[in-house]
Amino acid sequence: MKEKERNIDWFQNKGKRKDLIIQFYVELENIGIKDDIGLKSYSNEDDFVFRFDENIETTINDKKLLNKIYALTSKYEKLINKTCEDCGNKIKYGGSDYFCQECYCKRSRRYNYDSIGDLGFSYYDSDLVSSNSRAFVRWNEFSKANFNIDKESIFSSGFPIEIDFKYKFPLINRDFEDYIDIQEIFSVSNWHENFYTLLKHIPDNLLDTNDQNFKYALIHHLDDCNICGYKSIYNKNLCLVCHKSGFDRVLTERMKKYYNTIEDWYKKMQLEYHSENSEFKYPKWENEFEKSKNYVKLFNEKQLEELKMAESEKYDF
Ligand SMILES: [Zn+2]
Ligand SMILES: [Zn+2]
Repeated sequence: MKEKERNIDWFQNKGKRKDLIIQFYVELENIGIKDDIGLKSYSNEDDFVFRFDENIETTINDKKLLNKIYALTSKYEKLINKTCEDCGNKIKYGGSDYFCQECYCKRSRRYNYDSIGDLGFSYYDSDLVSSNSRAFVRWNEFSKANFNIDKESIFSSGFPIEIDFKYKFPLINRDFEDYIDIQEIFSVSNWHENFYTLLKHIPDNLLDTNDQNFKYALIHHLDDCNICGYKSIYNKNLCLVCHKSGFDRVLTERMKKYYNTIEDWYKKMQLEYHSENSEFKYPKWENEFEKSKNYVKLFNEKQLEELKMAESEKYDF
């Protein structure tokens, strides 16, 4: 069965999802299909789909059998699209990646910055063949660091979200086709863990005065967030941890339609934040900021449990 081999081959690097296509063929053989039927595996946008040849209905003219085949393909399409490639568990929240939250978090965590100190820091480099693919870069390999702030976005925190380090001596990489690629910049992003810790450690001599001010604001001048409870608000913008705009809010006319007091609004925001499943959250910005000493929790555990329950029911299928 050539087609079977080809379809299974399509799942070559797809971990636990490959087991499902093998199982599909066992079930197909159980209903008597042992020859090619013109079935192809491919992906449509992000979802896996089976596609039949146009003439499937002449190849298989037994209507009952054909319906059984359709039922099987649709069953396995669903299963394949909802199974985590790494652990084989059901993916609860969907999404474009074929990983459950736990495995996705594990995979993402590889990209964190680490060993941050006076010498430099380590990062994930997929080109490295060493077992953990970690590389270490020294501050003194750079001549300058530039902070990038996303001013356009409505989600802007007013704080740098990316740092471009300029190499003193550009790296020359040769790829497998022998093309030469000159790398002058090394970038780090707040989408990877320990970004803020890294920022605090950048030697002043790499930064211009303006960027030094950001660094010292991060160390000394952040405001308390009354939603997540961290000292994580820069210059009255969105919080760097929960990304909500919780600084010194007052009740506007529009808000008065929904809330009696500003505390009611804060309470709703706090509940929303605390009901998120933080166990598999990446990046966990919480780890990089101090807890606020002035945090007042406006909800009780029972209210939180009720909200979490309602949330999890929404996703149960
Ligand atoms: Zn998983
Ligand atoms: Zn916050």
